[in-house]
Amino acid sequence: MLSIPEIQAKIKAALPLGRVVPRHNEHGHFYEVIDGNDAIPPVYPSVTGKLAILKDESLINYKQNKALEYMFAHYSEFTDANIMEHIEIAKAVPQQNLIQASDVGTEIHDIRQLIFEKWMKDGIKPADFVALIPPGQDDIRIVSAIRALQKFVEDHDYTPIACELFVYSHKLKVAGTLDDLGMMRQVIRKPGQECDHQLLNGSGEKESAIIKSRNGKCTCMVCDYQYKYEFVLLDLKSSNALKDHYFQQVALYWKMFSALVGIKPERCIILQVSKEKGTYKIEDLKRPGKIAQYASYMMKVDEGIQFIKSLRRNNQKEIITL
Ligand SMILES: [Zn+2]
Repeated sequence: MLSIPEIQAKIKAALPLGRVVPRHNEHGHFYEVIDGNDAIPPVYPSVTGKLAILKDESLINYKQNKALEYMFAHYSEFTDANIMEHIEIAKAVPQQNLIQASDVGTEIHDIRQLIFEKWMKDGIKPADFVALIPPGQDDIRIVSAIRALQKFVEDHDYTPIACELFVYSHKLKVAGTLDDLGMMRQVIRKPGQECDHQLLNGSGEKESAIIKSRNGKCTCMVCDYQYKYEFVLLDLKSSNALKDHYFQQVALYWKMFSALVGIKPERCIILQVSKEKGTYKIEDLKRPGKIAQYASYMMKVDEGIQFIKSLRRNNQKEIITL
C-alpha cells in the first residue's frame, strides 16, 4: 500500500487545483471539468441531483406527518376566513423543519472540514476537536456530532489524506464532491486478553515504525493480534436514517475517484455521527463496485428522462411557432 504522502501526490497529479470548478446556480449543483480534452469544457450535474429521481418515501411520510401535526395543534383556531391561510402554513412547515435539519448538517460538515484541513496543514492532530467549533456555532447537536467525529478518529487512528475533493466521470457525465479520504486502522484479529503485545510488521520493524508511517500490517508475536492500515473513502452523515441513495452516491464517488487517480480505496464507509449522544456508527459499503454499477444505471435512467423532456420541449416550441 502507498504511504499517505504518496497518495496525496497522486491525487494532486490527477486532480490539480482548478481541474474541476463548481458552478452552482438556481437549477442545482454543477461542475465544469477543465482537463484540456474538449474545446468547450463540459459541465456536469452533481451525482446527488441525478439520484434525486429515487423517490424517498420516508421523506414523503415525514412531510405529511408534520403538516398533520400542525393541523391538529391549530384546528381550534380555524375559521372560514382563515382556513386557507392555515393550510398554506401547514404545507410550508415540513419544508422549514427540513431546512433547519439540513443547516445543522451543513455546519457539521463545514466544521469537520475546518478541523481536517488544519490538521493536514499543521501536520498535527488537533487535541480537542470541540474547541475548534467557531464561536456562536456551538449548538448542542453540532457539539455532539464533533465529539462523535473525534471518538471515531481516536478509536480507529484515522488520519485525513484529502477533504472535499471534486471528482467526475466523462463516461457517466456526472461530478460531485466526495467528503473524505484517509488512512484508518482495521483490526484483522482481535487482541488476546492481558497480553503485553509485541507488535511487529512484515519486515520485523517495531509497532512505533508502523504507527509513524501508518502503513502496512502489524502482528503480535505472542497473541496473534493483528491490524492493518487501510486507505478509506469516508462520507459523513448526521441524519438519523441512512437512505439507500446515500450508498449509491458514496459508491459513485469511490468509482470516480478510483478511475481518476488510479488507486482504489480499500474500504468505503459512511460515518454516521449522532446529534444527541456524541456517538458514531460505521456503515461499511462492503461492495462499492457493485453498488456503483447499479447506481450508474440510475444515471442512465435519468438521462433517458431528460431526453424525453428535451424532445417534448422542442415539440412545444414547434407548435407555438406554427
Ligand atoms: Zn499480543
